[in-house]
Amino acid sequence: YEVADWYDAESLLTSDERQVLGRLRDFLEEKAKPLVGDYWERGEFPYEIAQPLIDLDLMEPAELTEGRTKPARGIYQGFRIFELARTDASIATFYTAQAGLFRTAIRVGASEEQKREWMPKVIDFSLKGVFSLTEPESGSDIAGGLATTARREPGENGDTWILDGEKRWIGGAFTADVLAVFARDVADGQVKAFLVPREAPGVTLTKIHRKTALRMMQNAHITLDGVRVTEADRLHNVNSFKDVAAMLRGMRSDVAWIATGIQAGAFEAALRYVREREQFGRQLGSFQLVQEKLARMLGNLTSSLSLVVRLTEQQEKGIYRDQDSALAKMQTSLLMRETVALAREVVGGNGITLDTDVARFHADAEAVYSYEGTHEINALIIGRALTGHSAFTK
Ligand code: FAD
Repeated sequence: YEVADWYDAESLLTSDERQVLGRLRDFLEEKAKPLVGDYWERGEFPYEIAQPLIDLDLMEPAELTEGRTKPARGIYQGFRIFELARTDASIATFYTAQAGLFRTAIRVGASEEQKREWMPKVIDFSLKGVFSLTEPESGSDIAGGLATTARREPGENGDTWILDGEKRWIGGAFTADVLAVFARDVADGQVKAFLVPREAPGVTLTKIHRKTALRMMQNAHITLDGVRVTEADRLHNVNSFKDVAAMLRGMRSDVAWIATGIQAGAFEAALRYVREREQFGRQLGSFQLVQEKLARMLGNLTSSLSLVVRLTEQQEKGIYRDQDSALAKMQTSLLMRETVALAREVVGGNGITLDTDVARFHADAEAVYSYEGTHEINALIIGRALTGHSAFTK
């Protein structure tokens, strides 16, 4: 096994799962890696690899699911995210917007009937969607601060909802067919969710420019101005913020896998570099102080991988707790920040150019550190579980 998987966590995968992941790895190596530096610099996404990536059939691969009659295992899903992030965090985020965020919105929020209709299309990407929760004025306190409104209007041919408000940071929105929009019902004050066609009248998307992290990933500022959605397109199992919190649990675990994959990519790039570069007539990798940094990076990566593997095993047993995914997201992100900084450091000046990969991982890590719950918010979720006191409430 490879150096980045020090304790051979991959041995938990079946040979079929390894084969599918090998397909992904080859694709990323040949098709994605050569593009990422330039696209990152331009702040554009390499859409030419989007369809070939979808065509790899990775979300619920037919060969791992007995022709899609049972779900692929969580450990496979985790390693798929790890592989994507090990190549590039924007590509991992782009794929996870559909395979993690949007799919979880449907899995948790849709009624059985809605799931029967939508889920197959989510899995084969014929219905592309994004998760539109964050607002310009509410990020961490979205539960209390969500201000987008939904007003129900009775009609002879079924009721219609009218949505008004703004959403911010929505990843992948420009290529989505529908936006899963969370809004507060003006009648009962509870949060509801709707599938809004991206091209519906009243929907406006604006690209967020000048990002210094995840530059390839396209994030949108969205305005909803009197947008009409039918009751049939409301997610019928979302009746309060508690249902949204249930969605966030699964997504935070995915991000913990992303934070782990980023560490693998940065560590491997740094290791390659210090084996080649010479100073004082010797390889950088032969210096004690450099070796100490390599050891710390590997320690962080191995701790993160062990953590996400164990979390995934718990979830496979049906154990889903807010504090568990919060702990994984918080801890892997903290370790990631140190790992990418050490990787950048041992590459020296070249570590701030896009030619050595570490600069891209280093910059992108900052977005991953903040999305899906910041460090502080995840710490407070853990603190609430430990003490019984919620530090969120006044
Ligand atoms: P704020 O909530 O304003 O927080 C600012 C700082 O204050 C943070 O350090 C925070 O931890 C701290 N803070 C806040 N409250 C407390 C407190 N009570 N105690 C201590 N410290 C506190 N959202 C979506 O809905 N869909 C997406 O697809 C999506 N994609 C994203 C992609 C990127 C690249 C980024 C950067 C964000 C994305 N987000 C998305 C939004 C993301 O989830 C939010 O950025 C995140 O929840 C933090 O909110 P905020 O940025 O408004 O920060």
